[in-house]
Amino acid sequence: MARERILVVEDEEDIQELIRYNLAKEGFQVEIVASGEDALARASASLPNLVLLDLMLPGLDGLEVCKNLKNNPKSAHVPIVMLTAKSEESDIVLGLELGADDYITKPFSPKVLIARVRASLRRKRQEAPPETAVLRLGELVIDPGKHSVTVKGEEIDLTATEFGVLHFLARKPGWVFTRQQIVDNVKGEDYAVTDRSVDVQMVGLRRKLGACGEYIETIRGVGYRFREQ
Ligand code: CA
Repeated sequence: MARERILVVEDEEDIQELIRYNLAKEGFQVEIVASGEDALARASASLPNLVLLDLMLPGLDGLEVCKNLKNNPKSAHVPIVMLTAKSEESDIVLGLELGADDYITKPFSPKVLIARVRASLRRKRQEAPPETAVLRLGELVIDPGKHSVTVKGEEIDLTATEFGVLHFLARKPGWVFTRQQIVDNVKGEDYAVTDRSVDVQMVGLRRKLGACGEYIETIRGVGYRFREQ
């Protein structure tokens, strides 16, 4: 199998070297550029398997690069993992909504870097299950056909919106979704779903799920994720 190629877009030399060393050690082919313009030129010349994208770049910034790659049908399927500062929560949210797949906050450990890169590549290879597929996740079973959810075999009574939110997150375990992405994907039949009401839905949902409530993780300042089981 050809080695997977990672395009790293980072302008700080010490971080470039940290990433290069650790990815190469894991067998990845690493290519580094220091500007957004070079990233787009490089990606268009030869598509990488994944892009590690610093958001704070001189010139064309990371969000512009992300938008550009995701809007281009040729590169839209390439996973993008953003490199950000913890304080850039609003940029993380924006990046996810522009189609970035995940993010790593600086400073990060080599272990986290490798784990996130591998997870993004793996998730990209897996297709989301069909809308109608029964999902068995730990002690939770979601049956979209019957509109039923059970926890440890016990039927749970959810509203249509709660069901929609749970099903949306659970179809892609490990992916972080922003509130806006949840709103856009869940049409509330019994309730107008808004950015703010997503939080309210989560409180109710977690309570009803009991032991499985912790499967839904809050990503502070960013959104929610269904934990990989
Ligand atoms: Ca930077």
